[in-house]
Amino acid sequence: MEKQTRLVVRNIGHLVTMDPQRRVLKNAWLVAVNGFIQSMGTGPVPRVSGAERVDAKGGLVTPGFINTHHHMFQNLARSFGPVSNLPLLPWLEGHMPLWRNFNPDALGVATRVACAELMLSGCTMTSDHHYLFPRDGTTEMLDAGFEAAAAMGIRYVGCRGSVNQPSDIMPRWATQDLDVILADCDRLAAKFHQSGPGAMAHVAFAPCTVFGCSGEHYIETARLARRLKVRLHTHCGETVPENKDSVERLGSRPFAYMARHEWEGDDVWLAHGIHFNDREVAHLGRTRTGIAHCPCSNMRLGSGVCRVNDLRKAGSAVSLGVDGSASNDSGHMMNEVRQALLLTRVVHGAESMTPMQALELATLEGAKNLGRSADLGSLEPGKCADLAIFPAEDLYSSAAENPVDALVLCHARQVDTLVVHGRVLVAEGRLVDVDLDRLIIQHGRIARKIHQGYPR
Ligand SMILES: [Zn+2]
Repeated sequence: MEKQTRLVVRNIGHLVTMDPQRRVLKNAWLVAVNGFIQSMGTGPVPRVSGAERVDAKGGLVTPGFINTHHHMFQNLARSFGPVSNLPLLPWLEGHMPLWRNFNPDALGVATRVACAELMLSGCTMTSDHHYLFPRDGTTEMLDAGFEAAAAMGIRYVGCRGSVNQPSDIMPRWATQDLDVILADCDRLAAKFHQSGPGAMAHVAFAPCTVFGCSGEHYIETARLARRLKVRLHTHCGETVPENKDSVERLGSRPFAYMARHEWEGDDVWLAHGIHFNDREVAHLGRTRTGIAHCPCSNMRLGSGVCRVNDLRKAGSAVSLGVDGSASNDSGHMMNEVRQALLLTRVVHGAESMTPMQALELATLEGAKNLGRSADLGSLEPGKCADLAIFPAEDLYSSAAENPVDALVLCHARQVDTLVVHGRVLVAEGRLVDVDLDRLIIQHGRIARKIHQGYPR
């Protein structure tokens, strides 16, 4: 019989459960067995023999954050000067020459860096939308992402991105034939997609956007995904030019085009979802189609403001995404929570989003969009022991009257401790099993090589 792993987290100042009552337990403890929460409460800590013990030092515990949109390879083009002041479409086009010779080794290192950033900022589960497959390179690219995430210990949803139509933005070398794409989707699902509670790796199918993917591409990936019981992800409604181009070329706005090609429903989540009209918001809500809101990226590219509250009211789950590091330019989930609150308040006023509602986006709504409401998103007995421990008080939150609000309203902090499936991956603010200095040097070396080939 396999040995049981036990974890006791004690001395928790505030335990933000995100349970249906949104209870915050004071002076609390939590016990996990084999990666799942067995019990939690206040008062005397139960004796658990053979358990690893974590002292939360009076800190604040939240469910691990769930990042629902990212392009981890873009860490290699962070703050890339030639395009860093452009809007989405010229920005994307301007990046493409960087990626002509991209390979799985580079993806593996970029993924490790992206995971490290996310983990230190409270994230225990992340998706990665990888759509870059140079035509003359290997098709077996995303395997490197799965392997890197597994080595880091984070939960991972590898979104098999794809482009099958060349355009002004996506050159022919960056496209693949649909039969190659579908075969690789099928292969990845068989190799990496786990089922059941506590799964560490999922696969999703993720055509890039309407300007790079044919209608047949959307329909065929949707049908394959539903046959294999995996989820669907793509970009939609990010910019005004995208809507305009879609109307001119395809005869309808992007979401109508997607819905016509079977891309609606509670197994679909769309990145950005900014430029929807009232009818579209109602349609999205009625079909329970989800949205990954990426506030930093949307501000950085000047794309617009997602209608978070309208979408949630209509029935859509709205989760958070850091988006790629070429448009953020960091993957800091706590910062994303803070910016989500601030950006909604810019448009709708100070009463439009509370800190608790901002935390809902990063936890409960993330679990919904990734199909994990049953085992993730809140801290309750039976759910996975995925949790972030933030320091009780530091320079930035010193003397804050309400520590839970302070977590969102004060400076975006890093975790003291991060636990994924009952395993401590960050302790005392440092990644336990990762040589971060070495990783940063390796990442810089690969990035410089990629940048050198850029035509100037
Ligand atoms: Zn994106």
